[in-house]
Amino acid sequence: MPYQFSCSTESCQFMIRSSSADEVRRLVRAHVRMTHGGRIDHADLERGMERVKLA
Ligand SMILES: [Zn+2]
Repeated sequence: MPYQFSCSTESCQFMIRSSSADEVRRLVRAHVRMTHGGRIDHADLERGMERVKLA
């Protein structure tokens, strides 16, 4: 089942979906670092991860 993460920062449209939870985590951390110039809390990252059911 794929994993999805949508950036919760206001007005940010970033969304990532991957079959690998590790890849989602890695890309989200890279996004937050590059786009927002910060880092995401581990808890926020885990909370934002959603499992996506394939239609
Ligand atoms: Zn963002």
